[in-house]
Amino acid sequence: MKGFEYLQEELNQLKDQGVFRPLIDLESEQSSTVTIKGKKVIQLSSNNYLGLTTHPKLREAALKAVEKYGAGTGSVRTIAGTFTMHEELEEALANFKHTEAALVFQSGFTANVGVLSSMLTDQDVVISDELNHASIIDGIRLTKAKRRIYKHCDMNDLEQALQETQSCRVRLVVTDGVFSMDGNIAPLPDIVDLCEKYDALVMVDDAHASGVLGKNGRGTVDHFNLHGRVHIQVGTLSKAIGVLGGYVASTQTVRDYLIHRARPFLFSTSHPPAVTAACLAAIEVLLEEPELIDRLWDNTKFFKNSLQQLGFDTGNSETPITPVIIGDGAKCMRFSDELFEAGIFAQGIVYPTVPKGSARIRTIVTASHSKRELEQALDAFEKVGKKLGVI
Ligand code: PMP
Repeated sequence: MKGFEYLQEELNQLKDQGVFRPLIDLESEQSSTVTIKGKKVIQLSSNNYLGLTTHPKLREAALKAVEKYGAGTGSVRTIAGTFTMHEELEEALANFKHTEAALVFQSGFTANVGVLSSMLTDQDVVISDELNHASIIDGIRLTKAKRRIYKHCDMNDLEQALQETQSCRVRLVVTDGVFSMDGNIAPLPDIVDLCEKYDALVMVDDAHASGVLGKNGRGTVDHFNLHGRVHIQVGTLSKAIGVLGGYVASTQTVRDYLIHRARPFLFSTSHPPAVTAACLAAIEVLLEEPELIDRLWDNTKFFKNSLQQLGFDTGNSETPITPVIIGDGAKCMRFSDELFEAGIFAQGIVYPTVPKGSARIRTIVTASHSKRELEQALDAFEKVGKKLGVI
């Protein structure tokens, strides 16, 4: 069909630059190894931090829910699609996060967009870290509030932003808890101190911290012991939790407001029973099996230290997200292809997901990787790194 030649031209340019990315099909379940193109490879690119995608308790909960309640919910939450288990999940999340209330969204992406697009007016300002996730950026694009971007984790620039915006009614400072491409942790105690000094509100997106940081994986607020001092915690049910969805943990007022005003919540059908039941089971697993988080961190330390000892640049990562910085986009994609040949699935991340010149292989180890699998991956990194002149 004619009409989209201009799009094809842009795609051809990506192909010329070596950064066109076809989707890659998994032919197996998501685990420490996966089958791709008929080949079993070690998975280093998923967000399945605790291996919960295949946890027996989640499988069983999902199956039972399908048997009892069927496949879908048939409505948005606000009309006829709220099941008892949706509210049970929200109660479990609020308890888990030590907040008054929580509200589940269809994804972490829509949770951020829902909050940022609905809660501020043109008398307000949103102040955002320059490396915040795309869903925060898109949420900010939809707000009527003024916008001020501060330099990445730069507390002097944040303070200046707070000084510049004193006339605004509400100032909302938003940050990722763990930055998704670099794996560094936001300086949340400093952010909270500044916000208290300047009477601003704080929102943290804990997509990569939930299930990873804090007691039982409660996230950055718990990690830094900042309970009651962060106004909005957004999380995802799609990464460490192992299923799908997002949530906002905050006050009852915020929950009620979002139910009435957050458009992604209002106008999109609720989670199927299997998803909701599996998420509920996942929270139980977080409370009952803290050893999964210990294993995640043991694997993280081993893998990160070993990569550094080999001479790779892993940026300033402090979490299971360990970037291996390559620089050039095409070289990075070649690195990833060579790793695949050696039995390792570790995706290259290039511009525009990361700034030009900072292309990287982004690795995430999980609790379910064995030492042997990690050693095999390190061998492959060493061989490819030497072959391509990265180390
Ligand atoms: N926030 C951050 C920091 C993320 O990394 C992601 C996932 N890429 C999201 C939000 C969106 O979460 P979800 O995949 O549940 O939509």
